[in-house]
Amino acid sequence: SEKKDKRKQEENQEELHQLEEMRERLIRRIGIHGADEKVLKAMLRVPRHLFVPEYAKKGAYIDTPLEIGFGQTISAPHMVAIMCDLLELSEGLKVLEIGAGSGYNAAVMGELVGKSGHVYTVERIEPLVDFARENLKKAGYENVTVLLDDGSMGYSKCAPYDRIVVTCAAPDIPEPLLEQLKPGGIMIIPVGDYIQELVRIKKDPEGKIHEEKRGGVVFVPLIGKYGF
Ligand code: SAM
Repeated sequence: SEKKDKRKQEENQEELHQLEEMRERLIRRIGIHGADEKVLKAMLRVPRHLFVPEYAKKGAYIDTPLEIGFGQTISAPHMVAIMCDLLELSEGLKVLEIGAGSGYNAAVMGELVGKSGHVYTVERIEPLVDFARENLKKAGYENVTVLLDDGSMGYSKCAPYDRIVVTCAAPDIPEPLLEQLKPGGIMIIPVGDYIQELVRIKKDPEGKIHEEKRGGVVFVPLIGKYGF
């Protein structure tokens, strides 16, 4: 049985090595399209295969959204790269995410804000809150907090935030989110019903809002008081 254990260990190591190689290839490919070096490095460090259901592990490094149950998805890696890029994340920032899903995007942001920063991620589906918490624990992220709530109202308890990212599509920009964004802060949000536009919002130091459209995207809907 000792021999069996050893063989099992070797197989596990071999699988891990294969997954790491696939991850490197994926991130290199995303890099060709001009993603920020810092974001790519963070994505290299996050084991996406720990954020998908066990049966989908082999597909974790294909650049596509994957189902995580309850009609929800983990976003495609290139979309995570685009959003993190637009957010201009750096060490020490306090971030609010709406739509924790698998916790993967929060983990990538956790890498980018480091130990001196923090990511709060809100999810409305309770089993997904558990899923995200487990995944983040397995991957070792202690600077990410997963919260069960209707994130369309933001999360006022820990506001204001340097950055806000919404990973589901809203009919309009929810007023509470604008209020919970710090002056000088940045918010990324998909807006629209069927095909959506990724909108980047900057709140200037005087509190004035500037909006910029950054291209078409497809996300699952934001459900809730300020959602659909
Ligand atoms: N960021 C996630 C990841 O890395 O796996 C992917 C998020 S998935 C595309 C969108 C998520 O938003 C779903 O899990 C959905 O349940 C959640 N959601 C929708 N409306 C919400 C709301 N009002 N508050 C919190 N979460 C919400």
